[in-house]
Amino acid sequence: MGGYAMYKGSDSSVSFGGDGGSGKRGLFLTVPILVALALVFAGSVVAVGLIVHFTAPKCDPHPPPTTAPPATTLTTTAGPTTAPPLVTDVRLPTGVKPLHYTVTLAPYIYGNNASEFYFTGSMKVRLSINESTSNIKLHATKILLTAADIRVYNSTSNKNYTVDSCMYDEDREWYSIDLSVPLPANSTDVVIEIAWFRAPLRSDLRGLYLSSYPENGTTKYLATSHLQPTDARKTFPCFDEPAFKATFDVSLVRRSDYISISNMPSIRTTNVSASTWFSEMTDSEQLVKEDFETTPIMSTYLLAFIVSQFELIRGMDTQGREYRNWARPEFVNQTDYSLDVVRNITEYFEWYFNVPYPLNKTDQAAVPDFNAGAMENWGLIIYREGRLVFNGTRDTSAIKQSIGSVVSHELAHMWFGNLVTPEWWDDIWLNEGFASFVQNIGVNDYHPDWEVDAQFVPTQQRTAFDVDSKGASHPIYLQVYNPSQINEIFDTITYRKGATVLRMLHGFVGDEVFRKGVGNYLRQNSYGNTFHTALYDSLTQQYFESTNKSLDVGSVMDRWINQMGYPVLNCSVSTAARRLTLTQNHFLSDPSQVPSYPSDYNYTWIIPVTMGTKQNLSSGTPEDVSGFVNWMNEKEQSFELDNSADDWYLLNLRSSGFYRVNYDLDNWKRLIDQLVSNHTVFSPQDRARLLDDSFALASAGYLDYSIPLNMTKYLKSETHYVPWSSALSKIGYLHSMLHRQSPEYGPLSAYMRDLLEGAFNDVGLDNKDTDTHLTKLKRGLIVSSACLYRLRSCETAATNKFEEFVNSSFTSTITPDIRRRVLCEGVATSFVAEWDRLFEFSKTVAHPGTQNDIIRSLACTNEPWILNRYLDYALDETKIRGQDLSTVFSSVAANPNGLQIMWDYLQRNWNTIVDKGVGVFTAKYIINNLAEFNSEQKLREMEAFKLQHKDTLGAASVAMDRAIESVRINIGWMERSLLPLVQWLSENSLR
Ligand SMILES: [Zn+2]
Repeated sequence: MGGYAMYKGSDSSVSFGGDGGSGKRGLFLTVPILVALALVFAGSVVAVGLIVHFTAPKCDPHPPPTTAPPATTLTTTAGPTTAPPLVTDVRLPTGVKPLHYTVTLAPYIYGNNASEFYFTGSMKVRLSINESTSNIKLHATKILLTAADIRVYNSTSNKNYTVDSCMYDEDREWYSIDLSVPLPANSTDVVIEIAWFRAPLRSDLRGLYLSSYPENGTTKYLATSHLQPTDARKTFPCFDEPAFKATFDVSLVRRSDYISISNMPSIRTTNVSASTWFSEMTDSEQLVKEDFETTPIMSTYLLAFIVSQFELIRGMDTQGREYRNWARPEFVNQTDYSLDVVRNITEYFEWYFNVPYPLNKTDQAAVPDFNAGAMENWGLIIYREGRLVFNGTRDTSAIKQSIGSVVSHELAHMWFGNLVTPEWWDDIWLNEGFASFVQNIGVNDYHPDWEVDAQFVPTQQRTAFDVDSKGASHPIYLQVYNPSQINEIFDTITYRKGATVLRMLHGFVGDEVFRKGVGNYLRQNSYGNTFHTALYDSLTQQYFESTNKSLDVGSVMDRWINQMGYPVLNCSVSTAARRLTLTQNHFLSDPSQVPSYPSDYNYTWIIPVTMGTKQNLSSGTPEDVSGFVNWMNEKEQSFELDNSADDWYLLNLRSSGFYRVNYDLDNWKRLIDQLVSNHTVFSPQDRARLLDDSFALASAGYLDYSIPLNMTKYLKSETHYVPWSSALSKIGYLHSMLHRQSPEYGPLSAYMRDLLEGAFNDVGLDNKDTDTHLTKLKRGLIVSSACLYRLRSCETAATNKFEEFVNSSFTSTITPDIRRRVLCEGVATSFVAEWDRLFEFSKTVAHPGTQNDIIRSLACTNEPWILNRYLDYALDETKIRGQDLSTVFSSVAANPNGLQIMWDYLQRNWNTIVDKGVGVFTAKYIINNLAEFNSEQKLREMEAFKLQHKDTLGAASVAMDRAIESVRINIGWMERSLLPLVQWLSENSLR
């Protein structure tokens, strides 16, 4: 998924922080490559603690086991969990496999009574019987079947196999079908047929579901789908595991004034009897069945179905293949940018992997209700609207970049995930980490001026460093069984650490080995399933062929994939011998934390240490760092240092590795001197890494705060977006710790105003014709920060813009990149009447980015009672859409007065929120906000809350555990770091 299969979160930009309890928030920064600030997710909206059980299956209930089942409790989640034990023996037996399905789906979405919408369908699957058996397990959820609904027969002889019994196993989400005689081994002509089934069609964002949008005063309904990871079974009975690949003939039944699309091109459309499919209809209504071409061999989770009144735009690539973008009529003409991206990057990836795109058409559709960012269904990629629709005058530069990135991400999956699929969900990191890394290779080809590799450092990589520095992190590779566990691992570690580690791999083998090795892997495993070692083996072989040198890629990668965390390299230099001695230690953001997973490698890594000195980097850090790698295999290891004693050395060139470096103190000072005298010697990635490492080391107590803080002084001459982004996110942590109640906040904000004033004067509020993409991103960042730290000129300019906007009755255009901050400044100085007007206006705004900015900025009010009322609104579907609920809570929490208000509200109203059936991902995002507290009192309150609500927190209890851990870390930080910070500020700040 777009991380993105799944990107969730804001439609314009997000505030740094709410990711897995990383404990940094409060600073609204635009984040361009949003590969999922947290937001990756797999489409699950399991009600918190109340997994909505499919009630009363007509098949017999599963009998109680006579012996204890081999189920074990969850082990994938860190820390204690209050979730009930989950069954883990959920894998299908492998003796029966599907070969070819025929599936027809008929969603009833006509009329105005959405509560009565449903879908009907039929399913037929031809099987390959590898082992003789009289029992078949067939996945289904919320589809009621009886033995009489199921026919099993031999398609050659037409002979039936009698179905003796059919039992539904709710825990394993399958029907267990017993036949009177065993099916013969080695046969391929047994067919299961379910001629008719019916299931509810709800706006639950899972399986085939209902979505809607307003058009000319009426509500338009559509049926759309999201099957990853385990909701194909909610759409039709099937063998719903990724390795149970088959071919599919899909048909969709719809009224003739609607359109239907699926993975493959349409073959034909025929009239059908309306009353046959829908009891509400008479045959006078025009109903048609649209048949689609047979798919290639593929996994169930990649199927897609849409019945809607969308319109389309089309384009062709240089090979004459068709690309179509579908959206509601109002938006469809704003999808031309994403159409350009998909055409161009498809052809680029074909070149890059040297494997042709396997289908002959690509559809992309923008749906109004979608819980992920996007989903890579083969041939029909589905996006939330804000990830496909780009409005050149209203959308931010960050949005444009996130659209380019998500389209590229989903396209990468067409090869990596769709053509070659992990055997099981435990390897989903390979899919998602790979797409999250390779998306940048695609975008870089189409937009080289965006410098997406440099932007990787303060976005994806920074988040990976933060989240994986916690004791409650987990290894990338985890065994998972149950759907709850599967959904849980679509997380930051899978996406962002996965991408970061693969970028490191790309860095140490070099681009050519990576490209050819991946291409070989894809060709050798096309239409199949693999385990990650197959990719390592291919790269090991290619490395030898390209370089004539041996490198066991697997033994390196195992250390990074199978153990949690990452190392910090501590440096010491013997001046006389010019030897650099490195010692590696597991880096924890608070040294008192205990890792939640043991390591088979004693937390040591095989590290590709790239090393440069003032001498050999005189012309800058190289693009290709593979020639600068020194392998570190030991806990402690020495290297020759090729420079004079007074000169600096630099490790982790271009931030290509996933490790931090703590230099000896003299070298830190020399690096700072170099930054101040001429920072352009270092690449933007290097500058960002130095800032990020020094702040992280100081925060954990390994380095005096004077080092990172003195380093920030060079920023007065920094003009590049990337180092600014890195610095401001790190300083954002100091802001978040101090701005609510600390007297020390005054000197910090004064220092920040002084630091930012020049950059603010340089960018201003208005776009210029000569602005590059990165300049526009920088404007959003600098304006947001300058106003946050109360730079008067920023506040005045923003408030003036807001007044113009209000005086024009909300019709004047605010430059999109600064819109949220302008609205926030305006709301902060407005009264309730203006708040109400803006809120009412927000409901009429069709542009998703503007609407999202308004929803967020409404939380900038200084009136506590309005914040409380706003939280009430968030629980009222008629006021705030369900998908924006967590945005309201997070935005209120970001207000200096709002975190406490949000927390009080959450404690008072938790049961209401649970009763509302809020999805687990929404609950997690709400709880993540608590990670900013930093006192013992709040810690006790959170622990009490967790205990009190252990039965209803469900999967969100993991988020609560992480938030609690973050608060402990924050408390440690306050004890350790506040004093040195205050001291430095008193010496360096202007009051
Ligand atoms: Zn993905």
